[in-house]
Amino acid sequence: MAGYDVIIVGSGPAGIFAALELTKKENLKVLILEKGPDIEKRKCYERTTGKCAHCKPCRITSGWGGAGAFSDGKLTLSNEIGGWMSEYVGDKELTGLIDYVDGVYREFGATDVVHGTDGGKVGRLQKKATLADMRLVPMQVRHLGTDRSNDILTAMKERLAPRLDIQTGVRVSHILVENDRVAGVLTGDGQVITGKHIIAAPGREGAEWLNIEARRLGLKPVNNAVDIGVRVEVPAVVMEPLTKDLYEPKLIYTSKSFQDKVRTFCVCPYGVVASESTDGITTVNGHSYAEKKTENTNFALLVSTSFTEPFHEPIAYGKYIARLANLLGEGIIIQRLGDLMDGHRSTPERIARGTTVPTYTEATPGDLSFVLPYRYISDIKEMLEALDKLAPGVNSRNTLLYGVEVKFYSSRLKLKPTLETEIKNLYAIGDGAGITRGLMQSSASGVVAARAILNSTSRRK
Ligand SMILES: Cc1cc2nc3c(=O)[nH]c(=O)nc-3n(C[C@H](O)[C@H](O)[C@H](O)COP(=O)(O)OP(=O)(O)OC[C@H]3O[C@@H](n4cnc5c(N)ncnc54)[C@H](O)[C@@H]3O)c2cc1C
Repeated sequence: MAGYDVIIVGSGPAGIFAALELTKKENLKVLILEKGPDIEKRKCYERTTGKCAHCKPCRITSGWGGAGAFSDGKLTLSNEIGGWMSEYVGDKELTGLIDYVDGVYREFGATDVVHGTDGGKVGRLQKKATLADMRLVPMQVRHLGTDRSNDILTAMKERLAPRLDIQTGVRVSHILVENDRVAGVLTGDGQVITGKHIIAAPGREGAEWLNIEARRLGLKPVNNAVDIGVRVEVPAVVMEPLTKDLYEPKLIYTSKSFQDKVRTFCVCPYGVVASESTDGITTVNGHSYAEKKTENTNFALLVSTSFTEPFHEPIAYGKYIARLANLLGEGIIIQRLGDLMDGHRSTPERIARGTTVPTYTEATPGDLSFVLPYRYISDIKEMLEALDKLAPGVNSRNTLLYGVEVKFYSSRLKLKPTLETEIKNLYAIGDGAGITRGLMQSSASGVVAARAILNSTSRRK
């Protein structure tokens, strides 16, 4: 097969934005390889039947659009949220990139409505948060909703399809390197495809693969944190003091007992709790739809842990905890906060007696204290108490906790500000490279790598 100028591994937001940027100006020969299915074939059975079919790879996280296709589509317009890109490009550059990426999302149909723009109200909530021992990160959010994200990613594909080659259902198994310079890829079905530049954008789904490849190629990954916690579900009215003006309240609390950082994550007003499967492990997540509203709001409370010597396996640790929940609950466990406080499991009857009606009905009523270490349970309880001062009712006995939610942040590789690895012309971007954890920064990372390649190819002319 003829060689490519650029091969992009993974068609999540990072890979797609790299492709959009690369095909904007120059006539480069670009190929995208995606191990999951094309966007129209990405049917998640759990969404229609309520039961996870454990597809391999998971239709939620794999396929055209990556994890972004089924994501809640909350574009967070702040350089403080969604990753560590500022460590590579600086705060000012990142702000500019976020503006640029936001413009592209709007060009492809993102709504003009932005939440969290009223400085006065945000300021008042920040004061209240401080009094409750929390920090409220001010942030503006453009919310697409899961359904609209899908349309936007389809439109991006339609723009790209005539300008480059796309192969879905093709997994890259090896990155080929010759004389310290990237040379191409070997796919799972045995194709050797040569390429002058490789952009590895495999997302969380492919983070372990990238890690293994990096080690094989002699690159030394640096450990990232792992975030472990629960998804909290309450009647939407309870969270309205926060969601009405902020939409996505980002609150950070430092626990008194362990000095751990606990944060709210992925707040889904009027949304649904959902499951997600990676490598046979089911974890919990949440969505809200632009057109379809429920009476509940859900959000994650996550405790961040960075392990120190000699432990090097934060992802394995997170998976171990998630597996434990799956072992005890055959999937996701649900527990009423009152039952957790009283030290007994929830039963279907106890859940039914509660005033919060679960939006995810496949979870097994159980006891999260058998799954999460005491440290996490204690941190989560403390944060719920603090949150109750801003949104009274959050710490109610009827609040539902689903477990576990785990966010694995891939090990990071040593990267240049252009996101090039120590191997010439091999770039590692997005969530899979461990440098981002959200749509905006992952998309921005694609732009950075693409611009670096465009710069290097135009210099060579
Ligand atoms: C349910 C859910 C809701 C979310 N909601 C939000 C939100 O509201 N706002 C927000 O900012 N972020 C959200 N996120 C996170 C966001 O989706 C991710 O940060 C973003 O998609 C990361 O982009 P990426 O391109 O780096 O990786 P991904 O989107 O994960 O894409 C990587 C792609 O690479 C493919 N791949 C992996 N390995 C290989 C291989 N070896 N060969 C070929 N292909 C490979 C995968 O199949 C996948 O399609 C959500 C995530 C999930 C799962």
